[in-house]
Amino acid sequence: MESLSKRAKVLEKKPMTFAERAYLPAIFQGLTITMRHFFRAATKKQVTVRYPDETRPFSPVFRGLHVLKRDEAGRERCTACGLCAVACPAEAITMVAGERKKGEENLYREEKYAVSYEINMLRCIFCGLCEEACPKAAVYLQADKMAPPRFERDEFIYGKDRLVEPVTPDNRSKRGIQLTPEQADKLRAQMQTV
Ligand code: SF4
Ligand code: SF4
Repeated sequence: MESLSKRAKVLEKKPMTFAERAYLPAIFQGLTITMRHFFRAATKKQVTVRYPDETRPFSPVFRGLHVLKRDEAGRERCTACGLCAVACPAEAITMVAGERKKGEENLYREEKYAVSYEINMLRCIFCGLCEEACPKAAVYLQADKMAPPRFERDEFIYGKDRLVEPVTPDNRSKRGIQLTPEQADKLRAQMQTV
């Protein structure tokens, strides 16, 4: 069939030599790469890091992990309007809305709140559209935090217990990987200069 783009490369079908049939060039090429990495590691020009003890620096445009914010009085901002879920191109957000009861005014800012709110971090592409869609400034992607590696798929479904901002600023989530305050400040400074 003729190519529509005319970009298709026509390959010459030459018969393979004896060495090619015995995979000798491919074996030699593979060994060369292995030895190159071996000597590079031996001369300390390592290409790997000892994760999680060491981490690579994040990109200045790294968006990080979600956090559900509280207002200045410590009440949850999210009203479970669902706009973030509608905006999400990966369909990673689900929630169940509930009515605030009498006496819960100090917990939830408005009459409606999210009884449950979940983000599937395996689906999320960290595009930030949920943050942009939120009319209540309730969901943010926090640049100094990322989803740590896990063995079970279920552990990548983040519920309110892991998403809602802790009540006190010092009581930060221990579940996400945290940068040191110096690393976070450096990253924020880099982001402001971009
Ligand atoms: S960052 Fe993008 S993909 Fe991830 S939950 Fe938000 S809208 Fe969905
Ligand atoms: S995070 Fe924002 S957009 Fe999403 S349900 Fe809550 S208030 Fe609505």
